[in-house]
Amino acid sequence: SKGAALVTAVAQRLASLKRQVVETLSPFRLNQAQLQLVKARMREGLEAGLKMKGSSTVKMLPSFVYHTPDGTEHGKYLALDLGGTNFRALLVKFKKGLQQNARLYHKIYTIPLETMQGTGEELFDHIAQCVSDFLDYMGMKNAHLPAGFTFSFPCEQTAIDTGTLVTWTKGFKATDCEGHDVVSMLREAIKRRNEYNLDIVAVVNDTVGTMMSCAYEDPRCEVGLIAGTGTNVCYMEELKNIQKTKENTGTMKRDDGIPEGEQQDDGTEREKKEGDAEISKMCINTEWGGLGDDGSLDDIATPYDKEVDQNSINPGKQRFEKLTSGMYLGEIVRQVVLDLTRGGLLFRGHVTEPLKTPGIFQTKFLSQIESDRLALLQVRSILQQLGLDSTCHDSIIVKEVCKAVSHRAAQLCGAGMAAVVDKIRENRGLDHLKITVGVDGALYKLHPHFSQVLQKTARGLAPQCDVTFMPSEEGSGKGAALITAVAKQNQP
Ligand code: BGC
Ligand code: MG
Repeated sequence: SKGAALVTAVAQRLASLKRQVVETLSPFRLNQAQLQLVKARMREGLEAGLKMKGSSTVKMLPSFVYHTPDGTEHGKYLALDLGGTNFRALLVKFKKGLQQNARLYHKIYTIPLETMQGTGEELFDHIAQCVSDFLDYMGMKNAHLPAGFTFSFPCEQTAIDTGTLVTWTKGFKATDCEGHDVVSMLREAIKRRNEYNLDIVAVVNDTVGTMMSCAYEDPRCEVGLIAGTGTNVCYMEELKNIQKTKENTGTMKRDDGIPEGEQQDDGTEREKKEGDAEISKMCINTEWGGLGDDGSLDDIATPYDKEVDQNSINPGKQRFEKLTSGMYLGEIVRQVVLDLTRGGLLFRGHVTEPLKTPGIFQTKFLSQIESDRLALLQVRSILQQLGLDSTCHDSIIVKEVCKAVSHRAAQLCGAGMAAVVDKIRENRGLDHLKITVGVDGALYKLHPHFSQVLQKTARGLAPQCDVTFMPSEEGSGKGAALITAVAKQNQP
């Protein structure tokens, strides 16, 4: 009958639509062999970066942090945290010997886009102004506090308190900063205000801060991971493997300046600790987001990824980051959705204004859409809020796209992590390594599936490592304060 024929035609049409969607998404589905390759390339990147003095895709930047906290940290510190769309100022108080006893006060300030992309002076003046407000708020304008500066961009460090910005990442592009010491820039901005004093003792990458804050509670924590707006990893590397700092570190002994058994300023005798005799490790900020900048991930990148890269403010750079981090995932989704719409597979083939608007799909959007608790009707209402009229069928497809993109991101991070933990294991000549990774970032903390997939992939690809992931609380701020505490205590 005519009715039956119509039903069959509709069913066939749906099956063909589904086939085309599956086909479009298939390059996002990585098989085990591809993930092994990513792990291998990350490993090569780590090794090359350790050896090379000049530029390498994975920069492997020395942090001048030699060991994780030991619980003797004490005092009051200011932590300043610049890295995403916000600037945060924190006051952190540690009580000696009492682990997990850090008190925090903080305030968040937004950084307007025009400040992120204006001049360096404007950016640092803005920060100095936020600090001023925070000190007023805390009633500490005259305290002359020691401060740690968490600056979540690649910095070439020659000491704990100097860091030359190699290149901006994420949405930043303030002028006259690349190639300059960001600590000096901040000190100068504070001087220009001529209103308060700060003793900036350390500049810290957010990964390092995260690792330190988690290590404060779990001594096995020797890796820090950020999966948020951007992505990056740091870990404790053997000094002997860090060729580029060999000349500076060859003669280093104890780093705290207090000989064993001697009295400390509080009168107690300092106990001998493991690692006291000699410094054997340094935390390395890998800047793994740069993997692939030499084309080594081109076989994995889809045409959508290439489009996102080309439309970004730093084309050709941070290619791994652009496959895996919050700032870019929504854009990848948008490119796929655009393509499906142009092919008549979505939104009845109508490419509307919202679809053409860069940045409409924020990470938050992916997290909401992919939530298992969300009914399709709610997915439709989210799309509606973005100005997209969807059918039930459209919303199913959009959700599929989001899932494919975020699943791949988590797998890639997992593959990278497998390379890092296996390297640590091999460094120590172990058959089996138990290790903790401190983690921060909205993708890890708020996305409904990212953390699970990341963990499963890392464990699958590094079967000789027993990896525990530990979400950090106030990671980069608390960690920067810990590093500041150690640096301050060691100052002559
Ligand atoms: C930066 C890293 C940072 C990461 C996470 C990347 O874009 O290059 O330094 O750790 O984002 O914030
Ligand atoms: Mg941050």
